[in-house]
Amino acid sequence: MQSPAPTSTDAAPRQELATLMEAAGDVVFRLDLDGRILFASRRAALLIGLAHELNGTLLSDLAPDTDQPALQNAIADTGQYRQPVRVEARLKTPEKEIWFELRLNSFEQSASAAEELLVVGRDMTAQHATEERLRHMATHDALTELPNRLLLSDRIRMVIAQARRSGQGFSVATVGLDGFKKVNDGLGHPIGDAVLRQAGQRLRKVLRDSDTLARVGGDEFVAVLPGTFSEAQIKLVTGRLLATLQSPFEIDNHTIYVGASIGVSIYPQHAEDDNRLLALADAALSRAKETGKGRAITYSQRAGGPPQHDISLEAAMFQAIREGEFLLYYQPIVDAPTRQIQGFETLMRWKHPGLGMVPPARFIPIAETNGLINLLGAWALKAACVQLKQFEEVAKRPLYISVNISPRQFRNDKFLEVLDDAIAFSGVPGEQLVLEITEGTLMIDPAHAETILGKMAERKARIAIDDFGTGYSSLAYLKRFPISVLKVDRAFIKDLPESTKDAGICNAVLDLAKHMELSVVAEGVETEDQLHYLEQRGCQYIQGYLTGKPMPANVALAALKENLYEAFMPSDLRAGGQ
Ligand code: C2E
Ligand code: MG
Ligand code: MG
Repeated sequence: MQSPAPTSTDAAPRQELATLMEAAGDVVFRLDLDGRILFASRRAALLIGLAHELNGTLLSDLAPDTDQPALQNAIADTGQYRQPVRVEARLKTPEKEIWFELRLNSFEQSASAAEELLVVGRDMTAQHATEERLRHMATHDALTELPNRLLLSDRIRMVIAQARRSGQGFSVATVGLDGFKKVNDGLGHPIGDAVLRQAGQRLRKVLRDSDTLARVGGDEFVAVLPGTFSEAQIKLVTGRLLATLQSPFEIDNHTIYVGASIGVSIYPQHAEDDNRLLALADAALSRAKETGKGRAITYSQRAGGPPQHDISLEAAMFQAIREGEFLLYYQPIVDAPTRQIQGFETLMRWKHPGLGMVPPARFIPIAETNGLINLLGAWALKAACVQLKQFEEVAKRPLYISVNISPRQFRNDKFLEVLDDAIAFSGVPGEQLVLEITEGTLMIDPAHAETILGKMAERKARIAIDDFGTGYSSLAYLKRFPISVLKVDRAFIKDLPESTKDAGICNAVLDLAKHMELSVVAEGVETEDQLHYLEQRGCQYIQGYLTGKPMPANVALAALKENLYEAFMPSDLRAGGQ
């Protein structure tokens, strides 16, 4: 922004500037170097309070305690370093609080006059509310309002960190309702739902505030119990949990009895990570159910846990690389309004001589653990770029290619070399390459992620957040990182348009994307109804079985010749997909 020309009587240009800003929907303040308001634009006065109350007040006095230091620092920094500063702050109005993004600039009135600050603010309240809603939806179970599986894992990891520091163990108890299916089938879902809600409330009441209670599935709850690890302690708590579910539930003139069984695992005795602790508590729960219900059982080796690893598959992978059994399939991503193919997502397949097509969900996690993913991922990236060239030759127009990057690949210090090699070898310009990463990948080490993403941006490659909405993290990263695309997970698409909750989430994501100028790809679109719903709400890109299953390159080429997504639809091609 240009500073106003220095004049001794500059009220007119300042007024002009303020008018301009108001027209752009911004609020404007002029502050002295102490942060006192000298002038507040009409819009600011309207939003925050009466004009005469604003003039003379310290701007930071309008912010709640928690935001004050940030705002005060921003004011001081702007004055001192004469650099524009951007800060997010809430300002209190008599009735509510409004989130603003404030841009502070210093300017001199004249050589002799004191310096002032010009502050331009944009109302971000709606965006904050959307973020808050999304965050809550992503981390809580809609029925009971308890934390969901994602937040649960996060809490367990937190408790593990505390336990490491304190040297004290803790336990995880999975509570399964006995006979819940009978209630649901016999009395209907609304009553079943009411039982689950009340059961959640009862369990919550007998736990301490520092314990976490989550709902993780149909009739299963998980309690994380910091500091509870001895046999006696566990017996006490599980006894309370069992007892509270024993008294009948009175719902709509029905008296309903449901008991519970509990499986417990202990950190660090049984396992040292969240997934394994949950899996072992679950194994113990199954055993409690098999051996008579209504009781709590702590995991023991003899009870047998889930298999650690598919060792035979792992051994076969090394051989498979040598034999060239890995292939790439391509799934079209289409423009919703025109239904024209814009690009493809590259999806890896393993054609195992005995097992047939092994899906990536089975082999990628193993490759991620043993490091083979670096090799496979580098190959996929390069091969996909080369393939794109051939796609474009046939389509006679630019397309883009999307490639999944796993957390381990992203963290690998050779990753940028791999990327450069793929770009140089294929001659695909960076901007036609989309790299799909999950929220989880970014959050492992945000500082490192920022550096790598910056380097990707230098190469013009675009970043897509895969499975958006399923990772537990703050949305603040959307601002911090140079992200271009959100891929909304199939979980939020599959029950559209009937599910009002999923519709709410999709709308919120589309809204957010619009504000942040991001593209949205809806994943897993299977029906015309879903496509129509999404298109109507401004979702531009669609990927799903409706517009094309993942397919071998030659099938994709044949379809590109037709230039229409219908080309994918004949049943012989459909059968060739997956
Ligand atoms: P993703 O990246 O989220 O890929 C989308 C998945 O949804 C694919 O599963 C695709 O086949 C499936 N899908 C697409 N449309 C529909 C639909 O309409 N209905 C249903 N039910 N499913 C649909 P796929 O190919 O089994 O891949 C699973 C995951 O494996 C991928 O999820 C990705 O995370 C990972 N993956 C696949 N290829 C690679 C790769 O080359 N590298 C890495 N690191 N991961 C990969
Ligand atoms: Mg993907
Ligand atoms: Mg996905």
